[in-house]
Parts: sequence; C-alpha cells; structure tokens
Amino acid sequence: MSARFSCDDYENSFQSRGRVCVRCVMDESDPHLTFDESGRCSACIHAEARRPAWMVTDAERAPTFDQTVAAIKRENPHRDFDTILGLSGGVDSSWALVRAAEAGLRVMVMHCDTGWDSRESVDNIFTLCRKLKLDLETLVIDWEAMRAAQRAFFLAGVANCDIPQDHAIIASVNIVAARCRVRTFISGGNWASESILPKAWGHDALDIVHLRDIWKRGGQYELISRFPTMGRVKRHFVNPMVRRMHAWRVLDDLRYDPLEARRRLQADYGWTSYGGKHCESVFTRVFQTVYLPIRFGFDKRRPHLASLIMSGLTTREQALQELAKAPMTQENAERDVEYLCSKLGFSAEDWRRIVTSPPMPHSAYRTDQYERMAVGFAKRYITPYIKLRRIT
Ligand SMILES: [Zn+2]
Repeated sequence: MSARFSCDDYENSFQSRGRVCVRCVMDESDPHLTFDESGRCSACIHAEARRPAWMVTDAERAPTFDQTVAAIKRENPHRDFDTILGLSGGVDSSWALVRAAEAGLRVMVMHCDTGWDSRESVDNIFTLCRKLKLDLETLVIDWEAMRAAQRAFFLAGVANCDIPQDHAIIASVNIVAARCRVRTFISGGNWASESILPKAWGHDALDIVHLRDIWKRGGQYELISRFPTMGRVKRHFVNPMVRRMHAWRVLDDLRYDPLEARRRLQADYGWTSYGGKHCESVFTRVFQTVYLPIRFGFDKRRPHLASLIMSGLTTREQALQELAKAPMTQENAERDVEYLCSKLGFSAEDWRRIVTSPPMPHSAYRTDQYERMAVGFAKRYITPYIKLRRIT
C-alpha cells in the first residue's frame, strides 16, 4: 500500500448526509432536495413524472421503437450508415449498440480514446464489434491536451472534473457524424438507471465557455487547438437546425434492465464486467469513487441505485446494504490515485491539497448562463413556429 497517496478516512466519506428519502435512497448531499409530508423526496417524485411509456403500458416495447427504426432507414437509403454510436465499452452503450444492430440499423461505431481506457473496456469494444460484424473507428485524443484540461479542472476544484473527457467524446462523435453525413446519434442514456441525477453535483459538459475559462486558469491553454471542441454556433444552430442532427435514446424505447443486459452481453458477446457504473475509464473510477466522495461528499452510487429503485430493478433495502459498504478498499483506492497522479503529473502534496481544499462551485468560473437563457427563450417562443422535420 502506498502511504504517499493516502486517502485518509476513505470509508467514512460514504456515510449518508442528513435526511434520507423513505422511498428511494437520496439524501441531503443533494442541496436542492426537498421532501413532501410523507418523507418522499423531490428527486424521485420528479423521476416518476418522466417515466417512459413502456413502464406505464407494460408492453415489451413502445411502438415508437419500430417507428423510429423505420424512419431512420427511410431517411438514409443512399448513405453508408444509418446512425452513429459512441461506444465506451460500458453496459449502456454496449446494449444500445446490440439492440440497434439487431433491429437492422447500419451503425457506425466510434470509440474515443481519451487515454484512460481500462483493459476490459477495450476488450469489450473489439469483441462486440467483431461479433456484430460492424466497423469500428477509433479517434485518439491528443494526450498532452487532455492532460492539461484535466489538470486544470482538478486545480479549479469544481465537482464535475469529467467535463474535458465528456466534452471531447461528444465533440468527436459530432465531428465524425458530420463528415459521414449521419444525422441520428444513438445514445446509451436511459431512464432506467439514470432517472435521478442531482443537477447540483455537476455542470453541462458542453459548456465551452466554462471549459475555456477553467483551462485558461490552469495553464497550457494553447493546447486547446489540439482538442476536439463543440462551439456554441455548432451546438445550438448548425448541428440541430442545418444538419438536422438529433440523439435517439434507444434504451428509453425498450424494456431495459441493466443487470439483465450485463448477463446477456456476457453470455452472447463475450463481454467482461469492469465493476461499477461508468468505471470503464480509470479516470472516471477515481473521480467518482474517490475525489467526489472525499472532497464533496457525493456518492454517485446513490442516485444510480435510487434510479434502479424507481425502475423496480432493486429494492430500497438492497440499495441501503450496498451503500453501507465503500465501493472499493482503501488500498485499491490509493493504488488508483497513485496511477492517476502519475499520469496527470500531480505530487502526493498536490493530491492532498486537491482533496482537502473547500469545494468550489461551478459558478465561481465563467459559464454560458446567458446563452442558455437565450436558447431557452428561442426554444419556447421561436422554434415552435419553425417547422423542422424530426424523427418521431
Ligand atoms: Zn426519493
């Protein structure tokens, strides 16, 4: 065990904070959480209101799945691909790919190598594409640029240090989609395991104003020229309105059980498990299971398990039992932290300062808040009067 990169009091950082919801397992580590008179929290009440159609109708699949597949096929008879999917090797994107390919869609599979892939996730990506007989395009992000951006976010001390990785992945998929003239992105995002996610714990990964401001303060900003970015004009105007690109959350139109999907992927596609949700990247594993709990008191398993409770895929008792244990041992946490620090160029003293300094809100840095207000205004009062052809 390394004493240099110690994670003191690691296991205690997973204790619940304040009041806990009587129906799901969310607690007051989400500062925006409120409770009704029966003790149910605002997060699960809001999630319930957004339940997908298949949960309500109990049908095997919502009719929109077949309609969407047919519409996508009709739209792309002269193109090489119907859709594009960014594959991380995790269970959500892997299962979304399997279901889209089984439905007969010609999927362009893209993987974005940010320098943090675990061996299991790389094996999963290659095995899945080989078995589904799909071509894979891998885009490797310039490591010096990724390293500079991730260092800047840790030094800024904000909650969402995963913004550089998420931004690069989304921007890369958009760049490849535009080049191949593919309009529909298949997203692994889903209600079943992600219906609850506190807004206060993160910040929009596509906020280019925020990314630039934090990177400038952290140093080596000139490297942004080697980093894939998604600018404001492309995000709000060119891609949705000129290129008519849009995402399809395929798993929301299907009965999706992440545990069953994991079993099927293992049995039918030689897929291997890599641990918790989003732990296919070593960076994300340290960020979610060490940095966020120790510095902010955020345990990402909590909203994930609360979501599974709302989907009827686990019970509150089982979730509480899982939350009572730390996601990994202190020894393994320290080993991962040492690896992360060696790649990002942080000393043991740097790391100690990073995890013991007071949390910084994202609002301490520049954001695109005015732009979002303008886009919200346009969506409400202008877009309804512009007829856009959409896949429904
Ligand atoms: Zn709740």
